[in-house]
Amino acid sequence: MTLAYIALGANLGDPLATLHAALGGLAGLGELQAVSRLYRTAPVGGPPGQPDYLNAVAALETRLAPLALLDALQALEAQAGRTRTVRWEARTLDLDLLLYGGEVLASERLSVPHPRAWERAFVLAPLADLAPDLAHPVSGETVRQALARAGTAGVTAALQSNWPECRTE
Ligand code: ATP
Ligand code: CA
Ligand code: CA
Repeated sequence: MTLAYIALGANLGDPLATLHAALGGLAGLGELQAVSRLYRTAPVGGPPGQPDYLNAVAALETRLAPLALLDALQALEAQAGRTRTVRWEARTLDLDLLLYGGEVLASERLSVPHPRAWERAFVLAPLADLAPDLAHPVSGETVRQALARAGTAGVTAALQSNWPECRTE
């Protein structure tokens, strides 16, 4: 079993319902260990005028190999009605594989750790709920340190009474 961290994002359709369904889908890929708080975040990059995102991070113990996990994540995106045309445009669901244990992988389809994860407050804030002292497998920088560097502008915790509150720490 490998502990993987997966970023969830949605800003089209009904993002909260989509993220709930995505958690159900992730639970089918292994053992869901923990889910971060939910965050409302301003879009970064991509075409102008997108709605805000809802973001979260989940910790999943899985037996799936990295590419099989990516396939499964993309199948869940497709189930949520995701279409791919313009990079970083609004989407019903985005599932990024942030970390796969401490592995470092680089292929055409999959780079792990996710290359932009340690620069993005909308990833680091929810990841810090689960694993603030987790070190980047290459740089060694912890999630807490990276978040202090990235700052939290545009990222606010979005309290939802029915969002699972199963944080580790
Ligand atoms: P970003 O990668 O900057 O967050 P994005 O999530 O909008 O942008 P997508 O269109 O969802 O980008 O994905 C583009 C491709 O990235 C996917 O088809 C996938 O093969 C590849 N990819 C590489 N590494 C990863 C990873 N760690 N997690 C998810 N997809 C990845
Ligand atoms: Ca992404
Ligand atoms: Ca993606």
